[in-house]
Amino acid sequence: MAAREQVARAGREAETAPDRSGVDPGSPIRRISVLGATGSIGQSTLDLVARHRDRFQVEALTANADAAKLADLAIRHNARLAVVADPSAYEALTSALAGTGITAAAGPQGLEEAASRPADCVVAAIVGAAGLVPTLAAVRQGRRIALANKECLVTAGTLFMAEVASSGAELLPVDSEHSAAFQAIGMAEPDAIEQITLTASGGPFRAWSLEQLKAATPEQALRHPNWSMGAKITIDSATLMNKGLELIEAYHLFPVEAHQLSCVVHPQSIVHCLVSYRDGSVLAQLSSPDMRTPIALALSWPRRIDAPTKRLDLAAIGQLTFDAPDETRFPALGLARGVLAAGGAAPAVLNAANEVAVAAFLERRIGFLEIARTVAECLDAAHGKGLLRAAGSIDEVLSIDREARGLARSLLSEG
Ligand code: NAD
Ligand code: MG
Repeated sequence: MAAREQVARAGREAETAPDRSGVDPGSPIRRISVLGATGSIGQSTLDLVARHRDRFQVEALTANADAAKLADLAIRHNARLAVVADPSAYEALTSALAGTGITAAAGPQGLEEAASRPADCVVAAIVGAAGLVPTLAAVRQGRRIALANKECLVTAGTLFMAEVASSGAELLPVDSEHSAAFQAIGMAEPDAIEQITLTASGGPFRAWSLEQLKAATPEQALRHPNWSMGAKITIDSATLMNKGLELIEAYHLFPVEAHQLSCVVHPQSIVHCLVSYRDGSVLAQLSSPDMRTPIALALSWPRRIDAPTKRLDLAAIGQLTFDAPDETRFPALGLARGVLAAGGAAPAVLNAANEVAVAAFLERRIGFLEIARTVAECLDAAHGKGLLRAAGSIDEVLSIDREARGLARSLLSEG
Protein backbone atom coordinates (compact mmCIF):
# COMPACT_ATOMS: atom_id res chain seq x y z
CA MET A 1 0.00 0.00 0.00
CA ALA A 2 2.81 2.41 0.84
CA ALA A 3 4.18 2.49 -2.69
CA ARG A 4 0.76 3.02 -4.17
CA GLU A 5 0.00 5.87 -1.81
CA GLN A 6 3.31 7.35 -2.81
CA VAL A 7 2.24 7.41 -6.47
CA ALA A 8 -1.14 8.87 -5.79
CA ARG A 9 0.73 11.66 -4.06
CA ALA A 10 3.70 11.75 -6.42
CA GLY A 11 2.59 14.85 -8.18
CA ARG A 12 1.79 16.83 -5.05
CA GLU A 13 5.32 16.47 -3.78
CA ALA A 14 6.94 17.05 -7.15
CA GLU A 15 7.82 20.65 -6.61
CA THR A 16 9.74 20.02 -3.43
CA ALA A 17 11.44 16.82 -4.63
CA PRO A 18 15.20 16.92 -5.27
CA ASP A 19 15.95 17.47 -8.95
CA ARG A 20 17.81 14.46 -10.34
CA SER A 21 16.92 15.00 -13.97
CA GLY A 22 20.31 16.36 -14.94
CA VAL A 23 18.64 19.26 -16.78
CA ASP A 24 18.74 22.94 -15.86
CA PRO A 25 15.99 23.36 -13.24
CA GLY A 26 15.71 27.05 -14.09
CA SER A 27 14.87 26.37 -17.73
CA PRO A 28 11.23 26.79 -18.75
CA ILE A 29 11.83 24.25 -21.52
CA ARG A 30 11.14 20.63 -20.65
CA ARG A 31 13.23 17.95 -22.30
CA ILE A 32 11.17 14.94 -23.34
CA SER A 33 12.21 11.45 -24.41
CA VAL A 34 9.69 9.15 -26.03
CA LEU A 35 10.12 5.36 -25.85
CA GLY A 36 7.91 3.98 -28.63
CA ALA A 37 7.86 7.23 -30.62
CA THR A 38 6.56 5.70 -33.85
CA GLY A 39 3.42 4.27 -32.23
CA SER A 40 0.02 5.76 -31.61
CA ILE A 41 0.86 7.25 -28.18
CA GLY A 42 4.33 8.27 -29.38
CA GLN A 43 2.95 10.22 -32.30
CA SER A 44 0.19 11.86 -30.25
CA THR A 45 2.92 12.95 -27.82
CA LEU A 46 5.04 14.39 -30.63
CA ASP A 47 2.00 16.18 -32.05
CA LEU A 48 1.66 18.00 -28.71
CA VAL A 49 5.40 18.67 -28.53
CA ALA A 50 5.27 20.26 -32.02
CA ARG A 51 2.40 22.51 -30.94
CA HIS A 52 4.37 23.68 -27.89
CA ARG A 53 7.86 24.26 -29.24
CA ASP A 54 8.33 27.01 -26.64
CA ARG A 55 7.85 24.44 -23.83
CA PHE A 56 9.27 21.15 -25.01
CA GLN A 57 12.45 19.93 -26.61
CA VAL A 58 13.04 16.34 -27.71
CA GLU A 59 15.98 14.44 -26.28
CA ALA A 60 15.64 10.81 -27.41
CA LEU A 61 13.18 8.85 -29.54
CA THR A 62 12.96 5.08 -29.94
CA ALA A 63 11.17 2.57 -32.18
CA ASN A 64 11.20 -1.16 -32.67
CA ALA A 65 12.39 -1.56 -36.28
CA ASP A 66 10.91 1.17 -38.48
CA ALA A 67 14.13 3.12 -39.08
CA ALA A 68 12.69 5.36 -41.81
CA LYS A 69 9.75 6.53 -39.69
CA LEU A 70 11.95 7.01 -36.63
CA ALA A 71 14.55 8.99 -38.59
CA ASP A 72 11.82 11.19 -40.04
CA LEU A 73 10.43 11.93 -36.54
CA ALA A 74 13.91 12.50 -35.11
CA ILE A 75 14.74 15.02 -37.84
CA ARG A 76 11.37 16.80 -37.64
CA HIS A 77 11.60 17.10 -33.86
CA ASN A 78 15.29 17.84 -33.71
CA ALA A 79 16.05 14.92 -31.38
CA ARG A 80 19.57 14.28 -30.14
CA LEU A 81 19.36 10.50 -30.09
CA ALA A 82 17.34 7.97 -32.11
CA VAL A 83 17.30 4.28 -31.19
CA VAL A 84 15.92 1.19 -32.89
CA ALA A 85 15.37 -1.83 -30.64
CA ASP A 86 16.04 -4.22 -33.50
CA PRO A 87 19.79 -4.24 -34.24
CA SER A 88 19.14 -5.27 -37.86
CA ALA A 89 17.55 -1.83 -38.44
CA TYR A 90 20.65 0.04 -37.22
CA GLU A 91 22.28 0.45 -40.63
CA ALA A 92 19.11 1.86 -42.16
CA LEU A 93 18.83 4.29 -39.24
CA THR A 94 22.44 5.52 -39.48
CA SER A 95 22.14 6.11 -43.20
CA ALA A 96 18.80 7.92 -42.82
CA LEU A 97 20.36 10.17 -40.16
CA ALA A 98 23.70 10.77 -41.97
CA GLY A 99 24.69 14.43 -41.83
CA THR A 100 21.93 15.42 -39.39
CA GLY A 101 24.05 15.39 -36.21
CA ILE A 102 21.52 13.06 -34.56
CA THR A 103 23.16 10.10 -32.84
CA ALA A 104 21.88 6.66 -33.83
CA ALA A 105 21.94 3.57 -31.61
CA ALA A 106 20.34 0.12 -31.46
CA GLY A 107 19.53 -2.85 -29.28
CA PRO A 108 18.84 -3.12 -25.55
CA GLN A 109 21.80 -0.89 -24.61
CA GLY A 110 20.57 1.75 -27.04
CA LEU A 111 17.11 1.66 -25.46
CA GLU A 112 18.64 1.95 -22.02
CA GLU A 113 20.70 4.93 -23.16
CA ALA A 114 17.58 6.62 -24.55
CA ALA A 115 15.71 6.02 -21.28
CA SER A 116 18.61 7.24 -19.12
CA ARG A 117 19.53 10.45 -20.99
CA PRO A 118 18.97 13.65 -18.97
CA ALA A 119 15.33 14.57 -19.52
CA ASP A 120 12.50 16.10 -17.54
CA CYS A 121 10.02 13.51 -18.69
CA VAL A 122 10.21 10.10 -20.30
CA VAL A 123 7.06 8.98 -22.10
CA ALA A 124 6.87 5.18 -21.75
CA ALA A 125 4.92 4.17 -24.86
CA ILE A 126 6.46 0.89 -25.99
CA VAL A 127 3.79 -1.78 -26.36
CA GLY A 128 3.86 -4.97 -24.28
CA ALA A 129 6.24 -6.46 -21.75
CA ALA A 130 9.08 -5.26 -24.04
CA GLY A 131 8.54 -1.87 -22.38
CA LEU A 132 9.43 -3.07 -18.89
CA VAL A 133 13.23 -2.91 -18.93
CA PRO A 134 13.55 0.45 -20.78
CA THR A 135 10.87 2.04 -18.59
CA LEU A 136 12.64 0.82 -15.46
CA ALA A 137 15.88 2.37 -16.74
CA ALA A 138 14.06 5.72 -16.83
CA VAL A 139 12.50 5.12 -13.40
CA ARG A 140 15.97 4.47 -11.94
CA GLN A 141 17.08 7.94 -13.03
CA GLY A 142 14.33 9.44 -10.86
CA ARG A 143 12.62 11.01 -13.88
CA ARG A 144 9.04 11.99 -14.43
CA ILE A 145 7.56 8.99 -16.21
CA ALA A 146 4.46 9.53 -18.33
CA LEU A 147 3.33 5.91 -18.23
CA ALA A 148 1.33 4.58 -21.16
CA ASN A 149 2.82 1.06 -21.03
CA LYS A 150 0.38 -0.65 -18.67
CA GLU A 151 2.19 -3.98 -19.14
CA CYS A 152 4.99 -2.70 -16.83
CA LEU A 153 2.55 -2.68 -13.94
CA VAL A 154 0.77 -5.87 -14.98
CA THR A 155 3.95 -7.93 -15.23
CA ALA A 156 5.97 -6.47 -12.38
CA GLY A 157 3.65 -4.13 -10.45
CA THR A 158 5.00 -4.54 -6.93
CA LEU A 159 8.67 -4.54 -7.95
CA PHE A 160 8.11 -1.65 -10.37
CA MET A 161 6.39 0.47 -7.73
CA ALA A 162 9.16 -0.28 -5.24
CA GLU A 163 11.66 1.06 -7.79
CA VAL A 164 9.52 4.15 -8.29
CA ALA A 165 9.45 4.75 -4.54
CA SER A 166 13.19 4.25 -4.03
CA SER A 167 14.30 6.33 -7.03
CA GLY A 168 11.93 9.22 -6.30
CA ALA A 169 10.60 9.01 -9.87
CA GLU A 170 7.33 10.81 -10.47
CA LEU A 171 4.87 8.43 -12.09
CA LEU A 172 2.01 10.03 -14.00
CA PRO A 173 -0.54 7.80 -15.72
CA VAL A 174 -1.27 8.33 -19.41
CA ASP A 175 -3.88 5.61 -19.77
CA SER A 176 -7.07 7.68 -20.03
CA GLU A 177 -8.94 5.93 -17.19
CA HIS A 178 -5.99 6.24 -14.85
CA SER A 179 -5.35 9.84 -15.79
CA ALA A 180 -9.02 10.42 -15.00
CA ALA A 181 -8.71 8.65 -11.64
CA PHE A 182 -5.56 10.63 -10.83
CA GLN A 183 -7.51 13.84 -11.44
CA ALA A 184 -10.65 12.72 -9.60
CA ILE A 185 -8.61 11.60 -6.59
CA GLY A 186 -6.69 14.86 -6.39
CA MET A 187 -5.84 15.59 -2.77
CA ALA A 188 -8.22 13.02 -1.29
CA GLU A 189 -7.05 10.91 1.62
CA PRO A 190 -6.83 7.19 0.68
CA ASP A 191 -9.39 6.14 3.30
CA ALA A 192 -11.94 8.54 1.81
CA ILE A 193 -12.05 6.49 -1.40
CA GLU A 194 -14.69 3.76 -1.54
CA GLN A 195 -14.55 2.63 -5.16
CA ILE A 196 -12.76 3.37 -8.42
CA THR A 197 -14.80 2.52 -11.51
CA LEU A 198 -13.04 2.37 -14.86
CA THR A 199 -15.19 2.76 -17.94
CA ALA A 200 -14.86 0.48 -20.97
CA SER A 201 -16.17 1.33 -24.43
CA GLY A 202 -17.13 -2.31 -24.90
CA GLY A 203 -15.15 -2.37 -28.16
CA PRO A 204 -16.47 -3.18 -31.62
CA PHE A 205 -18.14 -6.43 -30.47
CA ARG A 206 -20.10 -5.02 -27.54
CA ALA A 207 -23.43 -6.21 -28.95
CA TRP A 208 -22.21 -9.37 -30.74
CA SER A 209 -23.45 -12.84 -29.81
CA LEU A 210 -21.05 -15.67 -28.90
CA GLU A 211 -21.83 -17.21 -32.29
CA GLN A 212 -20.79 -14.01 -34.08
CA LEU A 213 -17.70 -13.64 -31.89
CA LYS A 214 -16.54 -17.09 -32.94
CA ALA A 215 -16.18 -15.86 -36.52
CA ALA A 216 -14.83 -12.36 -35.77
CA THR A 217 -11.89 -11.40 -38.01
CA PRO A 218 -8.84 -9.24 -37.21
CA GLU A 219 -10.18 -6.53 -39.55
CA GLN A 220 -13.45 -6.38 -37.60
CA ALA A 221 -11.65 -6.43 -34.25
CA LEU A 222 -9.31 -3.64 -35.36
CA ARG A 223 -12.24 -1.32 -36.15
CA HIS A 224 -12.59 0.33 -32.75
CA PRO A 225 -15.67 2.54 -32.53
CA ASN A 226 -14.12 5.42 -30.53
CA TRP A 227 -10.34 5.22 -30.14
CA SER A 228 -7.53 5.12 -32.67
CA MET A 229 -4.75 2.99 -31.13
CA GLY A 230 -2.04 0.44 -31.91
CA ALA A 231 -3.12 -3.06 -33.00
CA LYS A 232 -2.39 -4.91 -29.75
CA ILE A 233 -4.39 -2.65 -27.46
CA THR A 234 -7.20 -2.48 -30.04
CA ILE A 235 -7.57 -6.28 -29.93
CA ASP A 236 -7.36 -6.12 -26.11
CA SER A 237 -10.23 -3.63 -26.20
CA ALA A 238 -12.29 -6.02 -28.32
CA THR A 239 -11.76 -8.93 -25.86
CA LEU A 240 -12.05 -6.60 -22.81
CA MET A 241 -8.61 -7.88 -21.73
CA ASN A 242 -7.58 -4.23 -21.91
CA LYS A 243 -9.99 -3.40 -19.09
CA GLY A 244 -8.68 -6.36 -17.12
CA LEU A 245 -5.09 -5.16 -17.55
CA GLU A 246 -6.27 -1.71 -16.49
CA LEU A 247 -7.80 -3.03 -13.25
CA ILE A 248 -4.37 -4.47 -12.39
CA GLU A 249 -2.71 -1.19 -13.44
CA ALA A 250 -5.11 0.77 -11.20
CA TYR A 251 -4.43 -1.57 -8.28
CA HIS A 252 -0.75 -0.67 -8.39
CA LEU A 253 -1.25 3.05 -9.01
CA PHE A 254 -3.90 3.94 -6.46
CA PRO A 255 -4.32 3.28 -2.73
CA VAL A 256 -7.21 0.82 -2.95
CA GLU A 257 -7.70 -2.91 -2.57
CA ALA A 258 -8.74 -5.13 -5.48
CA HIS A 259 -12.38 -5.28 -4.29
CA GLN A 260 -12.57 -1.48 -4.57
CA LEU A 261 -11.94 -1.63 -8.32
CA SER A 262 -14.69 -2.19 -10.85
CA CYS A 263 -15.59 -1.40 -14.41
CA VAL A 264 -18.67 -0.39 -16.31
CA VAL A 265 -19.35 -0.40 -20.04
CA HIS A 266 -19.87 3.12 -21.38
CA PRO A 267 -20.06 2.99 -25.18
CA GLN A 268 -19.61 6.75 -25.72
CA SER A 269 -16.12 6.84 -24.07
CA ILE A 270 -16.76 10.30 -22.64
CA VAL A 271 -16.58 9.54 -18.91
CA HIS A 272 -13.21 7.86 -18.34
CA CYS A 273 -13.33 6.97 -14.66
CA LEU A 274 -15.50 7.54 -11.60
CA VAL A 275 -14.15 7.78 -8.06
CA SER A 276 -16.73 7.17 -5.33
CA TYR A 277 -16.14 8.55 -1.84
CA ARG A 278 -17.31 7.39 1.57
CA ASP A 279 -19.71 10.34 1.81
CA GLY A 280 -21.59 9.17 -1.31
CA SER A 281 -19.99 11.71 -3.63
CA VAL A 282 -18.76 10.51 -7.05
CA LEU A 283 -16.18 12.49 -9.03
CA ALA A 284 -15.64 11.74 -12.71
CA GLN A 285 -13.44 13.11 -15.47
CA LEU A 286 -14.92 13.66 -18.94
CA SER A 287 -13.35 14.45 -22.29
CA SER A 288 -13.57 13.49 -25.95
CA PRO A 289 -11.83 10.17 -26.64
CA ASP A 290 -8.45 11.58 -27.73
CA MET A 291 -5.25 10.50 -25.97
CA ARG A 292 -3.74 13.96 -26.38
CA THR A 293 -5.77 15.09 -23.34
CA PRO A 294 -4.21 12.64 -20.83
CA ILE A 295 -0.79 12.91 -22.51
CA ALA A 296 -0.91 16.71 -22.24
CA LEU A 297 -1.68 16.42 -18.53
CA ALA A 298 1.19 14.00 -17.91
CA LEU A 299 3.62 16.29 -19.74
CA SER A 300 2.57 19.53 -18.11
CA TRP A 301 1.20 18.56 -14.68
CA PRO A 302 0.58 20.33 -12.28
CA ARG A 303 -0.15 22.90 -14.98
CA ARG A 304 -2.31 22.39 -18.03
CA ILE A 305 -1.47 23.15 -21.64
CA ASP A 306 -3.63 23.49 -24.75
CA ALA A 307 -4.55 20.25 -26.49
CA PRO A 308 -6.31 20.49 -29.86
CA THR A 309 -8.98 17.92 -29.10
CA LYS A 310 -12.65 18.06 -29.96
CA ARG A 311 -14.47 19.96 -27.23
CA LEU A 312 -17.29 18.17 -25.50
CA ASP A 313 -20.77 19.14 -26.61
CA LEU A 314 -22.96 17.13 -24.26
CA ALA A 315 -26.19 18.39 -25.79
CA ALA A 316 -25.03 17.10 -29.19
CA ILE A 317 -23.96 13.77 -27.67
CA GLY A 318 -27.37 13.58 -25.98
CA GLN A 319 -26.96 10.43 -23.93
CA LEU A 320 -24.27 8.86 -21.80
CA THR A 321 -25.14 5.24 -21.12
CA PHE A 322 -23.71 2.60 -18.77
CA ASP A 323 -24.03 -1.21 -18.67
CA ALA A 324 -22.56 -4.05 -16.64
CA PRO A 325 -19.85 -5.94 -18.58
CA ASP A 326 -20.79 -9.41 -19.82
CA GLU A 327 -18.09 -11.78 -18.62
CA THR A 328 -19.64 -14.75 -20.41
CA ARG A 329 -19.03 -13.30 -23.85
CA PHE A 330 -15.86 -11.52 -22.67
CA PRO A 331 -14.15 -13.95 -20.25
CA ALA A 332 -10.82 -12.08 -20.38
CA LEU A 333 -12.13 -9.64 -17.82
CA GLY A 334 -12.80 -12.42 -15.30
CA LEU A 335 -9.38 -13.96 -15.98
CA ALA A 336 -7.70 -10.64 -15.21
CA ARG A 337 -9.73 -10.24 -12.05
CA GLY A 338 -8.70 -13.77 -11.05
CA VAL A 339 -4.97 -13.10 -11.51
CA LEU A 340 -5.25 -9.84 -9.59
CA ALA A 341 -6.74 -11.81 -6.67
CA ALA A 342 -4.18 -14.62 -7.03
CA GLY A 343 -1.20 -12.24 -7.11
CA GLY A 344 2.32 -13.63 -7.46
CA ALA A 345 3.38 -14.10 -11.07
CA ALA A 346 -0.17 -14.84 -12.28
CA PRO A 347 -0.61 -11.36 -13.87
CA ALA A 348 2.76 -11.71 -15.68
CA VAL A 349 1.71 -15.12 -17.06
CA LEU A 350 -1.68 -13.75 -18.13
CA ASN A 351 0.03 -10.88 -19.92
CA ALA A 352 2.59 -13.06 -21.70
CA ALA A 353 -0.07 -15.56 -22.84
CA ASN A 354 -2.28 -12.72 -24.02
CA GLU A 355 0.54 -11.14 -26.07
CA VAL A 356 1.21 -14.49 -27.77
CA ALA A 357 -2.50 -15.17 -28.37
CA VAL A 358 -3.23 -11.68 -29.74
CA ALA A 359 -0.31 -12.01 -32.19
CA ALA A 360 -1.65 -15.42 -33.26
CA PHE A 361 -5.13 -13.97 -33.79
CA LEU A 362 -3.73 -11.10 -35.86
CA GLU A 363 -1.87 -13.67 -37.97
CA ARG A 364 -5.17 -15.62 -38.36
CA ARG A 365 -3.75 -18.69 -36.64
CA ILE A 366 -6.52 -18.73 -34.02
CA GLY A 367 -10.06 -17.41 -33.74
CA PHE A 368 -11.19 -14.50 -31.58
CA LEU A 369 -12.62 -16.62 -28.75
CA GLU A 370 -9.41 -18.64 -28.59
CA ILE A 371 -7.50 -15.61 -27.31
CA ALA A 372 -9.05 -15.81 -23.83
CA ARG A 373 -9.14 -19.61 -23.99
CA THR A 374 -5.38 -19.72 -24.62
CA VAL A 375 -4.76 -17.36 -21.71
CA ALA A 376 -6.90 -19.52 -19.39
CA GLU A 377 -5.15 -22.73 -20.49
CA CYS A 378 -1.74 -21.14 -20.10
CA LEU A 379 -2.58 -20.01 -16.57
CA ASP A 380 -3.66 -23.57 -15.71
CA ALA A 381 -0.50 -25.06 -17.22
CA ALA A 382 1.69 -22.47 -15.46
CA HIS A 383 -0.02 -23.29 -12.17
CA GLY A 384 0.72 -26.97 -12.76
CA LYS A 385 4.40 -26.15 -13.33
CA GLY A 386 4.64 -23.99 -10.21
CA LEU A 387 5.29 -20.91 -12.36
CA LEU A 388 2.89 -18.59 -10.51
CA ARG A 389 5.05 -17.96 -7.45
CA ALA A 390 5.87 -14.29 -6.82
CA ALA A 391 9.03 -13.09 -8.57
CA GLY A 392 11.68 -11.64 -6.30
CA SER A 393 13.46 -9.64 -8.98
CA ILE A 394 12.93 -8.13 -12.41
CA ASP A 395 15.18 -10.83 -13.90
CA GLU A 396 12.84 -13.43 -12.47
CA VAL A 397 9.85 -11.60 -13.98
CA LEU A 398 11.59 -11.67 -17.36
CA SER A 399 12.30 -15.37 -17.05
CA ILE A 400 8.66 -16.11 -16.06
CA ASP A 401 7.55 -14.00 -19.03
CA ARG A 402 9.76 -16.07 -21.38
CA GLU A 403 8.55 -19.37 -19.91
CA ALA A 404 4.91 -18.34 -20.13
CA ARG A 405 5.35 -17.32 -23.78
CA GLY A 406 6.88 -20.72 -24.49
CA LEU A 407 3.94 -22.42 -22.77
CA ALA A 408 1.38 -20.37 -24.67
CA ARG A 409 3.11 -21.11 -27.99
CA SER A 410 3.19 -24.82 -27.28
CA LEU A 411 -0.51 -24.77 -26.33
CA LEU A 412 -1.26 -23.03 -29.62
CA SER A 413 0.70 -25.53 -31.68
CA GLU A 414 -1.04 -28.44 -29.90
CA GLY A 415 -4.50 -26.89 -30.31
P1 NAD B 1 1.72 1.01 -30.99
O1 NAD B 1 1.75 -0.39 -31.45
O2 NAD B 1 1.02 2.01 -31.83
O3 NAD B 1 3.22 1.54 -30.76
C1 NAD B 1 4.14 0.79 -30.03
C2 NAD B 1 5.51 1.43 -30.05
O4 NAD B 1 6.42 0.52 -29.40
C3 NAD B 1 6.09 1.65 -31.46
O5 NAD B 1 6.90 2.79 -31.45
C4 NAD B 1 6.94 0.40 -31.70
O6 NAD B 1 7.98 0.61 -32.64
C5 NAD B 1 7.49 0.16 -30.30
N1 NAD B 1 7.81 -1.25 -30.06
C6 NAD B 1 7.04 -2.33 -30.37
N2 NAD B 1 7.66 -3.46 -29.99
C7 NAD B 1 8.83 -3.10 -29.45
C8 NAD B 1 9.92 -3.83 -28.88
N3 NAD B 1 9.93 -5.18 -28.82
N4 NAD B 1 10.97 -3.13 -28.38
C9 NAD B 1 11.00 -1.79 -28.43
N5 NAD B 1 10.00 -1.04 -28.98
C10 NAD B 1 8.93 -1.69 -29.47
O7 NAD B 1 1.12 1.00 -29.51
P2 NAD B 1 0.28 2.14 -28.77
O8 NAD B 1 -1.14 2.00 -29.10
O9 NAD B 1 0.93 3.48 -28.95
O10 NAD B 1 0.43 1.67 -27.25
C11 NAD B 1 1.64 1.84 -26.53
C12 NAD B 1 1.39 1.51 -25.07
O11 NAD B 1 0.49 2.47 -24.55
C13 NAD B 1 0.74 0.14 -24.84
O12 NAD B 1 1.25 -0.41 -23.67
C14 NAD B 1 -0.74 0.46 -24.67
O13 NAD B 1 -1.40 -0.45 -23.84
C15 NAD B 1 -0.66 1.83 -23.99
N6 NAD B 1 -1.84 2.67 -24.24
C16 NAD B 1 -2.13 3.06 -25.51
C17 NAD B 1 -3.26 3.83 -25.74
C18 NAD B 1 -3.60 4.31 -27.13
O14 NAD B 1 -4.54 5.07 -27.28
N7 NAD B 1 -2.88 3.93 -28.16
C19 NAD B 1 -4.10 4.20 -24.66
C20 NAD B 1 -3.75 3.79 -23.38
C21 NAD B 1 -2.61 3.03 -23.17
MG1 MG C 1 -7.29 2.92 -21.21
